Amino acid sequence: MLVREAERLASRILSEAGRDSPGLSARLLLANVLETDKTGVLLKAEQSLSENQKERFFHLVLRRKKGEPLAYLLGVREFYGLDFQVNAATLIPRPESEHLVDCVLAHEDGQKPLFFADLGCGSGNLGIALASNRPLWRGLLLDICSETLLQARANTKKHKLEERLSCLRADLARLPCAEQSLHFLVANPPYIAAEERDLVMDEVLDFEPHLALFAEDHGYAQLQAAIAQACEHLVPNGHIYLEHGANQAGRVRELLQQNFTDVGTLRDLAGHERVSFGRLQTASMR
Ligand code: GLN
Repeated sequence: MLVREAERLASRILSEAGRDSPGLSARLLLANVLETDKTGVLLKAEQSLSENQKERFFHLVLRRKKGEPLAYLLGVREFYGLDFQVNAATLIPRPESEHLVDCVLAHEDGQKPLFFADLGCGSGNLGIALASNRPLWRGLLLDICSETLLQARANTKKHKLEERLSCLRADLARLPCAEQSLHFLVANPPYIAAEERDLVMDEVLDFEPHLALFAEDHGYAQLQAAIAQACEHLVPNGHIYLEHGANQAGRVRELLQQNFTDVGTLRDLAGHERVSFGRLQTASMR
């Protein structure tokens, strides 16, 4: 079977199964099996696949047909222009989270040696995107799941940031750093309420780690824990940046306003309120 024939057949299989971007997915899976990139697939269009390549390719296509996310099949997802290794223990970085990175880069002083924490770091995408763009910053990438931390460590190494980023296993409610030691804190914590489970896409529910998706207290438990930790560990006037569900912004702002000032929310490209932030009030202001 020729490369172009395999691509066309795979694209049809994925399209009939109702998977998004069937053509692109087929090409990327082919690129993976042929150990090349999308252009490489075009260049090899008239070549024949070996039996082994054909078998591996259609095995991946069938997994995608059943809903397994492309990022897990490829083992990689791009975020903020950087490649991140992902596996089934790690939430797949989402384009919406790039707004959080933009927001931090716009607010924080890039000329100062700031120290930050990324709570529930997953693949390390937020902290790594920040440190890659700001050579003076150092940070802690924290996650409760050791398998996920392996990915965060691998990604830190891949992007040559081991000297500035430490990956540590930590409960989001107990940060392994001194009081008032962080200039800012970012988190995209689990925030989906158990009762909203039915609204989550099957692909996400069936394949992504529930630990990274769901939180108690109608989805607010980890957001609240992050805010409490921020009160303890941020320097006075330090900032918190939180990603949350589109319908949670009002409550998150209320929670922040108890101890933070300059509280606000950013909308994503779809117009949804997805990232809220605030500045820790100094003791005299409280
Ligand atoms: N910080 C990672 C991300 O933004 C993982 C988040 C999580 O596991 N909830 O994708």
